[in-house]
Amino acid sequence: MATETDVLICGAGPVGLALAAELTRYGLAVRIVEKIPQRNDKSKALVIWSRTLELINRMGCVEKFLATGLHSPGANISSGKERIAHINFDGADTPYPFALMIPQNETERLFEEFLNTLGVPIERDVELTAFTAAPDHVASTLRHADGREEKIETPWLAGCDGAHSTVRNQLALPFSGTTQPSDWMLADVHLTGVPNPDQTNAFWHSAGVLIIFPITPGRFRVIADAGLTDAKNVRPEPTLEEMQAVLDQRGPGGIKVSDPIWLANFHINERKVSDYRRGRVFLAGDAAHIHSPAGGQGMNTGIQDACNLAWKLALVARGTCAADPLLNSYSPERSAVGDQVLKAAGIFTSVAILQGEWKQSLRNHLASLLLGFAPFRKLAVNAAEELSIGYPASPLNAHAKDHDGAAQHGHAPHEGHRAPVTAGEIPVGAGRTPRFALFTAANDDAKKHFAALVAKYPTLLEPNLRPPFTANGLWLVRPDGYVALATSPADWVDLQDYLARITGPA
Ligand SMILES: Cc1cc2nc3c(=O)[nH]c(=O)nc-3n(C[C@H](O)[C@H](O)[C@H](O)COP(=O)(O)OP(=O)(O)OC[C@H]3O[C@@H](n4cnc5c(N)ncnc54)[C@H](O)[C@@H]3O)c2cc1C
Repeated sequence: MATETDVLICGAGPVGLALAAELTRYGLAVRIVEKIPQRNDKSKALVIWSRTLELINRMGCVEKFLATGLHSPGANISSGKERIAHINFDGADTPYPFALMIPQNETERLFEEFLNTLGVPIERDVELTAFTAAPDHVASTLRHADGREEKIETPWLAGCDGAHSTVRNQLALPFSGTTQPSDWMLADVHLTGVPNPDQTNAFWHSAGVLIIFPITPGRFRVIADAGLTDAKNVRPEPTLEEMQAVLDQRGPGGIKVSDPIWLANFHINERKVSDYRRGRVFLAGDAAHIHSPAGGQGMNTGIQDACNLAWKLALVARGTCAADPLLNSYSPERSAVGDQVLKAAGIFTSVAILQGEWKQSLRNHLASLLLGFAPFRKLAVNAAEELSIGYPASPLNAHAKDHDGAAQHGHAPHEGHRAPVTAGEIPVGAGRTPRFALFTAANDDAKKHFAALVAKYPTLLEPNLRPPFTANGLWLVRPDGYVALATSPADWVDLQDYLARITGPA
């Protein structure tokens, strides 16, 4: 039995690949197994949002993504030729104020290439068939292409094995939710005549919704709802003629379709587990949550699951932090995000496929009104870009006594919020060690206290103070860029208590 692997990752979709990259960067030994012999060739998830790009930057490979994808500046909702609303990503408070349109197979290629530079191969044609979890390890069985069975013991197992997860099924965790009773058509095709061809265009029509996403110049993803599912007559894959008919009926006119790359039907499932962790076994990505592709959040949410888990596992495996406070926070933090994403995608889809003339008319007016109002538009952009995701109720927050005091003046982030990210700055959590960073004014008192803390926690804290977000405050930012503690500048006791809590006995 091999024992030198820290984490066995089941599944080499975007989430397993991101987790493997993060864990390896932080010095853990991983194996990543994938039951399919070749890399996925489907464009499935097309959008990488700003927050995910910020995290990929921290991982160390964002440039290749930026060079490969199409930078889409906004999105439109229209009814025929009439524009109901326009959303511009330009003003988002991030170094990446756009939607990066990139087919999922390209995302997977880039992650795989990055992983190869870190010296980790993907073990393809290797299936996890069973495992048993003990208090101090997980014993897994892997079936190789030649039928050989391998037994492996690892401290941790991560199930990144998608909607039909073997890991989730073996844990007998309910995947609660529903399958929507409607059929959807998907076409990855070439189009001419698309207005604003570098933006996503949704058309609300009395017969249903049509959404056109840019992929590369000339190539687009088209999706449209196709009516109620009839279990007795399974709908065949859409033809090019059907796609042209839907574009003619629901679009602005003048769009011509050709050269299909992928034509498919799909159903919308809205399901989630309630617990992303069972002892030494974790779930991430579609294995833990699936929902409507409207809003394009599925893969992004999964990659962010991976980024949340990796630094915690790394600090525990290195012996820097105690297991309980860190690992017990993974499921509550990410499950709450999963709930929010599921709800938002569900609402977005229901609104888009609303039936009935007066309801549709009311919807169009309300959307025009709300999205014409700058503060609401900003909320919508921050939600779509996943910049407003945070962990305000996390058990890992410090709950500093002075949290509502000096630290909260101005626009400073609260505990659980994403810390502001500035272009060109080295992100917190970059490099080979997951470290927390302290943001406060570097006066003599701060320097003295900070030097003592760095001496005590040399592998947990960044060695330099970073400038405060506003004049008055002290912030401890986690390796994934979320604020763990926000308090007044002199509150060194709360900071010491917090560090003692997370590094305490395992
Ligand atoms: C049509 C469509 C459009 C979408 N659009 C978007 C979008 O615009 N934006 C977005 O964010 N998301 C979108 N999604 C969702 C997105 O594709 C998924 O969220 C994403 O693929 C999830 O990644 P994952 O790594 O969790 O799972 P997967 O990509 O499903 O990868 C899981 C991997 O695990 C492997 N595996 C399974 N069981 C085992 C086992 N026992 N042993 C070894 N390997 C195993 C599988 O072969 C698979 O390769 C879309 C999905 C679809 C279908």
